[in-house]
This record gives sequence, structure tokens and C-alpha cells, in this order.
Amino acid sequence: MQEFFRDYSPLIALALLLAGTFLGYWYRKHKFRNRQVIFRLLKQVFDHTHDGVTITDPEGNIIAVNRTFTQVTGYTEEEVLGENPRILSSGYHDRDFYENYWQTLLRDGIWQGEIWNRRKDGEIYLEWLTAKAVKDSDGEITHYVAIFTDITEHRRQEARLEHATEHDRLTGLPNTANTLRELSRQVPNLQRHWCFALIDIDNFRLVNASYGFAVGDQLLGSLARRLKEASQGLVARHSADVFICTFPLNPHDDEKDRREQLANIRQHLGRPFSIKGKLMEFSFTMGTSIWKDASLAVNELLQQSELALHAAKARGAGQTRHYSEDLKENNNPLVLLQGLREALSNNQLSLNFQPLVASGSQRIHALEVLLRWDHPTLGRIPPDQFIPLAERHGLMEPLGQWILEQSLKQYSAWQDKEIAPSRIAVNVSPLEFQAENFVENVQSLLGKYQLNPEVLELELTEGVFVQRDKETLDRLDQLSSVGVHLAIDDFGTGYSSLAYLKHLPVNQLKLDRAFIRSLPANEADRAIVESTLALCRGLKMTVVAEGVEEAEQADYLARKGCDLLQGYYFSKPIEAAAMTELLIQNKLGSSLPVTK
Ligand code: C2E
Ligand code: CA
Ligand code: CA
Repeated sequence: MQEFFRDYSPLIALALLLAGTFLGYWYRKHKFRNRQVIFRLLKQVFDHTHDGVTITDPEGNIIAVNRTFTQVTGYTEEEVLGENPRILSSGYHDRDFYENYWQTLLRDGIWQGEIWNRRKDGEIYLEWLTAKAVKDSDGEITHYVAIFTDITEHRRQEARLEHATEHDRLTGLPNTANTLRELSRQVPNLQRHWCFALIDIDNFRLVNASYGFAVGDQLLGSLARRLKEASQGLVARHSADVFICTFPLNPHDDEKDRREQLANIRQHLGRPFSIKGKLMEFSFTMGTSIWKDASLAVNELLQQSELALHAAKARGAGQTRHYSEDLKENNNPLVLLQGLREALSNNQLSLNFQPLVASGSQRIHALEVLLRWDHPTLGRIPPDQFIPLAERHGLMEPLGQWILEQSLKQYSAWQDKEIAPSRIAVNVSPLEFQAENFVENVQSLLGKYQLNPEVLELELTEGVFVQRDKETLDRLDQLSSVGVHLAIDDFGTGYSSLAYLKHLPVNQLKLDRAFIRSLPANEADRAIVESTLALCRGLKMTVVAEGVEEAEQADYLARKGCDLLQGYYFSKPIEAAAMTELLIQNKLGSSLPVTK
């Protein structure tokens, strides 16, 4: 065996060498192939990833970039090879920033963060960057690899979203939450108090109703601009037609300062607005409070102004009311609102009835239903005060439904007694009228009490009639075609002219009390009343004069041909039981007023 090795050893060595070489070759070849495959794969990933990739040598010269790099930066590979990534620098970051970048990269081998860079065309963009130092087995840095994502658009969207949630889209003004936060950074002190004002456009609903939402929006936009011009403080949009304006006051005479600044704002807002080529003026109601005590939270401040605004509105359009302690309990709308929800179920609501008398015979022709609320502690609350509240808080639909049902039920009871007048008139809030199934509800209630639709008159305000959308018109037609009477209430207080009533199915017009009050002495009112009467005659509409308080007014109106009269002179609104007595007398032929 030994000889064998001795004799053949050179051959064996050669064979081993050959085999080794072959194996080595085979191994290398396959390894190389594997590498090639991996390299190809990596190249694919490198080129097609949505991240931009830059590879530099240890000196920072670019040796490779991918397609996304080109797409994001605008530079081709040829343009940047051999360059330093510094060519992308935006100039937005200071030295410290880059120093920190390099220190971290060298110490930890990786840096991550946001960085502003500049594209070839000069546009600045924001990227999320991960930079990594690549080391060999000896720990020497051989390359740097930077992977980045363009997050400019993402950030813009975030900002837009933030802006959208913090700002009102229509006017671009901050919203209430945003403003309260901002204000709470400005705590009041000995050098500075703050006035917090809520500013409400009077009758804004009519603008939308008469001219459409586009015009309403335009008005809000102009108003926002004017407020910003007029005030040195913060301006925000609080709700549809209510704005916040909050501004610093001189603490030495904050009351005077408040009045002067508000007068200035009023002056700015009082100038006419150009709407659809027409100049229009608006009035504004304001509620204010002063922030001088840092222990008062900003949302309490807002609440105070809301109470003040509410109280100002109760006084009528164009008023300003400053918050005072006594507003707290009595008029707190939130207390009222809670109470109103309970009122329906607790029998605190009731109906009063007021006669509309025929001007010739002075006998009862119809009854208007007026809602009453007797609050257990606050006493009787006027409907002008709680109906708007019910409208704003979505209570008007159930409330209106209840009123209509009770009215028809009572009327049907009078019919059974054979003392019912020709008609029962029920007030309908625009919000109720807009409810989807309003017409069906009316019809089904009429059916339930087996009443001829002719006995029902719905009193709608001008706002409803001027809303010329198809749905409203259809609804009016439907009601009219089944025989329900339609009356336009408070005529003359809105923007309307009789012209637009021509084509609407309106049976009756109620002249607002404001025109009746100074009759017959006031010449202007006489002119209005007489021309309205003449026009309505042409349109075959009956006219009711509201708020007749004196015999002289009644005589004058009867002479001029006003069909129906309503007011304290004949009877105040009274409860059902008292009305039953009056109706019995009426049936027997008595005329009103009773004392006559
Ligand atoms: P309106 O529809 O214009 O009702 C007439 C108002 O004038 C009633 O006030 C009535 O009491 C009052 N009034 C009647 N005659 C005279 C008078 O000779 N002199 C004076 N100074 N006032 C007179 P009221 O009951 O306080 O109602 C105020 C408003 O509240 C109503 O105005 C109506 O817009 C609303 N309202 C009342 N009841 C209802 C209801 O059931 N539903 C709806 N949607 N609104 C109602
Ligand atoms: Ca009415
Ligand atoms: Ca009225």
C-alpha cells in the first residue's frame, strides 16, 4: 500500500489538485451565480422602491442613486455621480443640525429624521430620511446609504386637515375651540382685560331664504373680512351666523373702552354690503362679557356672552347687551332648553286661543293658536323666547306636531259642541315646515280628527314663501290643493314685496302689528296699509290686521276694507275653557269686544 502511494503520489496529488480546482471553480461559479441573482434582485428593489436611495463613498461622494431619487430631486444619475449630497441642501437647517446629523451617524451608525431639501427646479420639499453607515468586517466605514421618502404632500394634507378642523371652511376664520385655546394663553391681568363679544347677523335666515345660500355665503365671507379689519383682537366664526370677536381692553376704563371698540365694529359692519350688485345693510345683535378675572375659564366667558346675546335678542334686532349676574338663572338658555324637553311630558305647555274677527260683523271668524309655557319656577316664558331655542336644538318638529294635534283635537271638540268658528289658525315654524313628512303629518292628523282640511289655516312667515326651491313650492301646492289655507304671517317685517306672492297659493296675509300700532295717525303706515289692502284685493287674498288695540284702529281698518281684525281690543289670547264661553256667546250672535 505504501508503494502504491509512493509510486502514484504525484498522480494522486495532481488529481486532488485538479478536483480541488474543479470543486473550487464549481463552488465559485455557483456562489457567483447566487450573488448575481441577489445583485439583480437588489438592483430591482433599488430601482423600483418608492423610497429614494443615495449611496456615497466614505468621503461622501455619490456613487449610486436610484430612479426614485431622480423622480423626487429632478437630478439624473449622471448629474449627481461624484457630487456631494449637499447639492440638495435647502438652506433651511443650520450648522448645528448637520453637526448633530454627522455625530449621530458616526456614533450610532444611523440617523433618522425629517429634513428639508431642494429639488433641481428650486422647489423645497420635506423628506423622511434614514441614513446608515455601512462598515466592513474591520469596522471601517465603506459607504453611506441614505433612504428617503418625500413627505411634503403628506405634511400638506396633515396641515390642511388640521386647518380644516381648526378653521371654518367658508370664511377661513378659526373656529371657537381654536380661539378659546388661543385666548386662554392671554390671561387677563392688571395691564389688560379682554372683551369677548358674540356678534349675530339679524335675520340671516332670510338672506339665505331670499337669495340662496351662495349669496348668504358671500355675505358671511365679507362680514368675516370686515370684522378682521375692524378688530385688533381675535376673530372667529362661532356658528352659522354668529361670530366671535375678542379684543384687549384698557383695564383703567374697560367699560368705556369696550363701548368705543364695539361702536367702531358696529360702524364697520353697518356700512352696506354689495350683494348681487345691490347694496344692502344689515343689523347686528351683540352679547358681550369682560374677562378680567383669571380664575374665570374661557368657556365660562363664552357662556356669559351667549347669555348676553340671548338677552339682547329678546329686546329685538340691533341691540347690544353686556353680561350681568342676573342673566344667569332667569334666561340661561341651557336651563331653559332642559326644561323645555321636560315641559312636553310634564304638562307645562298649553294652548291659548285668540279670535280673528270679521271687520264688518265683529264676530269670531277664526282662532289663532298661541303656545304657552308655564315653567314651575321661572313662571310663564314667552314663546318668542323659547321657540327659537326649540328651533335651534331640534325640538321644533315634535313640538310643532304636538301643537297641531292639540289644536285639531280642541277644534274638533268645539265642532262637536257646534260652536266652532270657520277656521283654526296654527303657527308653523320654518323648521317644522321643512321637515320631510310635514304634509303627510298634517293630512293624517286632519284624518284622525275627521276634519275638513278647509278648517285649518297654517300661518307661515315670509321666510318660507320666499324660499323658492322646488320642494317648498311643491309642499305649498300640496297643502293648498287638499284645501288647507295658507296665511303669510308678520307681513312687512321681512324683505318681501307682494310681487312674489302672485304665483303662490297664499290665501291670507297678516299685516304685522308694527304697521297697525300708530294707525290711523301715522301717514306712512296708512299708506302702507292701504296699498297692501288694494294689492291683496287684486290677488284675491284676505287681509288680517294684527295687534289691534283700540277702537279707532278697528274702525279705520274696517273702513278701508281690511277683512279680519285681531288684537287685544277684541280679546287677548285665552285658554280653551274661556274660549268655549266666548264661542257660545259668538254662536248666540254677540260681537266683540264683549264689553261693547
Ligand atoms: P305671532 O304669530 O305674530 O302671534 C301674535 C302675537 O301677538 C302673540 O304673541 C299675541 O299674543 C300677540 N298679540 C295679539 N294681539 C296683540 C295686541 O293687540 N297687542 C300686542 N302687543 N300683542 C298682541 P305671543 O303669543 O307672545 O307669540 C309670539 C310669537 O311666538 C308669535 O307671533 C309666533 O311667532 C310665536 N308663536 C306663538 N305660538 C306659537 C306656536 O304655537 N307655534 C309657533 N311656531 N310659533 C308660535
Ligand atoms: Ca301668527
Ligand atoms: Ca304675526
